[in-house]
Amino acid sequence: MVGAPGAFDETLEGLYQLALNGAKVEIRVVLHAMTIPRLRQLASFIYRRLPFVEHVALMGLEPMGFAKRNREKLWIDPASYVDALSDVVGFLANRKMQVSIYNLQLCILPRSLWPFARQSISEWKNKFAAPCGGCVVRDHCAGFFASANDDWRSQHLKPLTLEDLSDVVA
Ligand code: SF4
Repeated sequence: MVGAPGAFDETLEGLYQLALNGAKVEIRVVLHAMTIPRLRQLASFIYRRLPFVEHVALMGLEPMGFAKRNREKLWIDPASYVDALSDVVGFLANRKMQVSIYNLQLCILPRSLWPFARQSISEWKNKFAAPCGGCVVRDHCAGFFASANDDWRSQHLKPLTLEDLSDVVA
């Protein structure tokens, strides 16, 4: 991803050194157009080659720096990759690996993924879109990065009502 020769091997070596020295290791995977096609292979690699990893965070893209300059190559509507995300969360969770979803909104995730979704965006750079005001799960949703304008938001956002939750709010 970073395009630097040797970066992959150096990263692996660093991770093994951390494990050997008893460090707690978290792998963060940024979800975008270049990582989604091989997400399952990456999860499989983490499970087989990095079994000491304590936590895998699958993270929606933050529109900053490198990502912002490369929007055309990287941006993909998160609603379009929820199937791949579900598959990988299931793959890791079924193998007893701790897995979380960061930076993605509840209304674009299937209900089966809600237990894995965290309010991961720091308060100082967290905001919500105008329609979120009437959404009944706003207090549990990750919301958006303050740097995310409409170009960096899913086209499938939908404020949820109590009716949408009628199966759990009886
Ligand atoms: S409408 Fe807004 S607050 Fe509600 S789930 Fe979607 S992004 Fe979150």
